[in-house]
Amino acid sequence: MAIESYNPYTGRVLRRFRAFSWSKTERILGQAHRAAAEWRTTSFAHRARLMQRAAALLRERQNELARLMALEMGKPVADGRAEVQKCALTCEYYAQHAEAFLADEEIKSEARRSFIAHEPLGVVLAIMPWNFPFWQVVRFAAPALMAGNVGLLKHASNVPQCALALEKIFHDAGFPPATFRTLLIGSDLVGRLIEDDRVRAVTLTGSEPAGAEVAATAGRQIKKTVLELGGSDAFIVLADADLELAAKTAAQARMINAGQSCIAAKRFIVEKPVVKEFISKMKTHLLALRTGDPLLESTQYGPLARPDLADELTQQVEDSVRQGAKVELYGGQSQPGTALFRPIILSNIKPGQRAYAEELFGPVALILEARDADDAIRLANDSRFGLGASIWTKDAQRGQELARRVEAGAVFINSMVKSSPEMPFGGVKKSGYGRELSYLGIREFVNQKSIWVS
Ligand code: NAP
Repeated sequence: MAIESYNPYTGRVLRRFRAFSWSKTERILGQAHRAAAEWRTTSFAHRARLMQRAAALLRERQNELARLMALEMGKPVADGRAEVQKCALTCEYYAQHAEAFLADEEIKSEARRSFIAHEPLGVVLAIMPWNFPFWQVVRFAAPALMAGNVGLLKHASNVPQCALALEKIFHDAGFPPATFRTLLIGSDLVGRLIEDDRVRAVTLTGSEPAGAEVAATAGRQIKKTVLELGGSDAFIVLADADLELAAKTAAQARMINAGQSCIAAKRFIVEKPVVKEFISKMKTHLLALRTGDPLLESTQYGPLARPDLADELTQQVEDSVRQGAKVELYGGQSQPGTALFRPIILSNIKPGQRAYAEELFGPVALILEARDADDAIRLANDSRFGLGASIWTKDAQRGQELARRVEAGAVFINSMVKSSPEMPFGGVKKSGYGRELSYLGIREFVNQKSIWVS
């Protein structure tokens, strides 16, 4: 695929980039490897000062960065600004807490002294998706750089300008240039990079096939990986839920980033007595959302990031309808090859349909009817994915008991699933492994070294 900035709203190519050759990529890797030896010796206070500056620059540049996302992948500017602010918050969070998270941990043993030290690994390769072009990278880069690692970013091929803007932020903040570099490369060079001994670990956020391929290559090289992959999050509505609030939140949770979020609610599992009313309310909320030019403040959802993604989603919907799904709300593309996709609700979702088994990465809400709470949990768990879930009930105690039975990396009760710097983020099953954010995230790419003094 070309490394190309393409505006999905206008259909125009904004810029084309020549992909780096292997020799240029290899040169940058060499610089990163040398920089890692220096960077690991710097103090937390020094790294924190630079990270705080990166946070300030993100806030200062939030309008231009939001505009870039609107142009390059169709995110409305208001959502873009919120994404950049969250990035700033996360830089500040790790600037403030990294030292404590990685402090030596004293362990009681037979030794005179025994403790765990946390040491950086070196160069970490980050392979990232286009859907939250700043957030996905910052939630890796802030803890990695604070831990004393060095980052090489291979961003998705359709967001090169966002990738370069991020590199510039870290450089302008004062990080030595080789500690964070953007590689404008296609996925064809990724295997070669992973096979190089100077790359010490790999993190990938993206699809299951990409995750499987990268992890297989890293596995052969005995290299640590963190994988943040797809999801088909359940949104469970029990009969005693505040139905109005649940339906309103359901519409928002399905429509985050025009439905292109790993933790967007995708399967709405509703107890039978309230299913009709829930669908009717959700429909009202979805229809109230305004679409339009992502550069306008009033736009609430934009086009999908690329027309081929919209074509693929249409195919999934059409196949599912042929397999028995019922259309409750008509939407979708106006014609093939265009990126705007209006919300769709499908009910009667059953095993054997594509919609039951696959992730639908766009604004299509699936309604599954549950006999009772046990049946709802069974349906929620009958998925290859296990990223997030939310449960709606007025009985918070019961909500917590049910939460423990859901196979997912996170369960939110009476709230949509979201990420925040303090709480770990990641999945189980085919949603991946490892955790980002919180103190767990910063410990993924460190050598947890035992030191024993007799
Ligand atoms: P994708 O096609 O897997 O791309 C993600 C990144 O991986 C891109 O940089 C891509 O580069 C690269 N890539 C693709 N195939 C590769 C391969 N064989 N070897 C090495 N690198 C490869 O995913 P996407 O379509 O952009 O993103 C959507 C998916 O990401 C969804 O499944 C979504 O749920 C998941 N996601 C998960 C999370 C999470 O935190 N769990 C967050 C966001 C998204 P190119 O662009 O050059 O192909």
